[in-house]
Amino acid sequence: MTKNRFWEFKNYINGQWIDSFGKETMNNYCPGDGELVSTVAKSGEEDVNQAVKYAKEALEQSDWSYDPRLRSDALNEWARVIKENHEEASAILSLESGKPISEARMEVSNAINYLKYNAGAIKTLYGRSNSIDRNTLSIMSREPVGVVGAILPWNYPVTLFMRDAIPALAAGNTLVFKPASQTSASNMVLIKYLHETELMPKGVINGITGQGRVIGDRLINHPDIDMITFTGSSETGKNIMKVCADTMKKVSLELGGKSPNIVFADADIDKAIPYIIKAAFSNAGQLCTLGSRLILENSIAEMFLDRLVKEVESLKIGHGIEEDTQLGPVISEKQMNKIMGYIEEGKEDSWLLTGGFRLNVGDYAKGYFIAPTLLLNPPIKSKVVQEEIFGPVLAIQTFDTEEEAIELANCTDFGLASGVWTQDISKAMRVSRKIKAGTCWINCYNKLFPEAETGGFKSSGIGRAAGLEGILKYTEIKHICIDYLQG
Ligand code: NAD
Repeated sequence: MTKNRFWEFKNYINGQWIDSFGKETMNNYCPGDGELVSTVAKSGEEDVNQAVKYAKEALEQSDWSYDPRLRSDALNEWARVIKENHEEASAILSLESGKPISEARMEVSNAINYLKYNAGAIKTLYGRSNSIDRNTLSIMSREPVGVVGAILPWNYPVTLFMRDAIPALAAGNTLVFKPASQTSASNMVLIKYLHETELMPKGVINGITGQGRVIGDRLINHPDIDMITFTGSSETGKNIMKVCADTMKKVSLELGGKSPNIVFADADIDKAIPYIIKAAFSNAGQLCTLGSRLILENSIAEMFLDRLVKEVESLKIGHGIEEDTQLGPVISEKQMNKIMGYIEEGKEDSWLLTGGFRLNVGDYAKGYFIAPTLLLNPPIKSKVVQEEIFGPVLAIQTFDTEEEAIELANCTDFGLASGVWTQDISKAMRVSRKIKAGTCWINCYNKLFPEAETGGFKSSGIGRAAGLEGILKYTEIKHICIDYLQG
């Protein structure tokens, strides 16, 4: 484990570390104990303009857009240096976000895998050619969209940087990215590792830190940005889509969720319970694909919930950096108060099975800790069923028939992910086909891979991340038509 507990970063523009124009900085504090973790540049519109100018120059003048081998080598080398610095990257992530160090380590490993996948896949993404008639050949070539602006979230800042934004680089675009202000150093340290490789041409990647409402807003308005890739809340995503219409930018939106985990009476309960708990309480419930609604068949409800409550109550809650912590703090005081508001409302019209309170004495006094909370049978229209709480709260709904289970699964505006637990494969397939969500896990949950597309139906987003689609969305198809008939 690295001994360092404080990091400082400037903006990274055109291959150099530079102060923001205003020379302002902002601090990030650990949600587990309030200690200062990082200081980064607080940027303004001029910083965005400068970054976009260099990104455009790099797009037009460097070999990046034309040379997949160069791109592949640069991304592979980057993956290698991150691996060498795995412990430091995990420590920053754990301290900035509050997540357990074991989860932070897994996140960094996942990020490396996404990077390597992109480095390999980009060599195989050919266009097509078509013989139209004796003298005419059509070539469909895949070209980068241009300068891409990426706006990143704080909940999985490292993996989602690699999953959602870096495929833009793999496809030959240049990039200006903005980390979430809460976890800026977790992203900027990755750029420090990239800088060491000296393989990426200057200006291909530019990172600027600051507030979403200032620099995020400039990115989505900037006339020289051709596409915005955004991972964050549905509310911000909808606003971004509206603004991007003015300059006709392409958009990719990976947004929120309220995902159901349906457990039928014939499920393998011993396997299901640990998955349901991880699905609901990983990263203190701050996960887009969180299995935040358990939809449980009535005939097993009593036995299942007895076991679930016992297991949930045995979770070790603590500071993220401690090795045995299973549930860390939530990201901020504001988020904690928002979650507690949902819990208070939920308590009024559902059964509180466990949790429902803050931990704020002793070791917990300086952090934002909430006990994992189970709410049974909240009304279908209640906020705890319909809205993304983004905290350690599991809403439990019960059913008697398969049709009822499907109706409950589809009862929100979201459609990001889902789970089905049954040993009857026909039932699993029938139900999975009827759920309106981008992913359906059968007898597992949250298995996300670089090779497999993920994304949202309904208010959960537009476009897909990961897999080949995750790279192809960053390309335009150009038709080049050759007529070789001689006159
Ligand atoms: P958020 O929408 O508050 O912020 C996301 C990013 O947008 C941050 O970088 C923020 O600074 C920036 N931003 C805020 N206001 C902006 C504005 N007006 N213009 C431009 N940019 C702005 O989301 P968050 O709280 O960071 O992340 C949590 C949300 O993200 C949850 O809803 C979660 O479900 C979702 N999420 C989705 C996925 C997915 O893959 N679908 C993955 C992770 C998180």
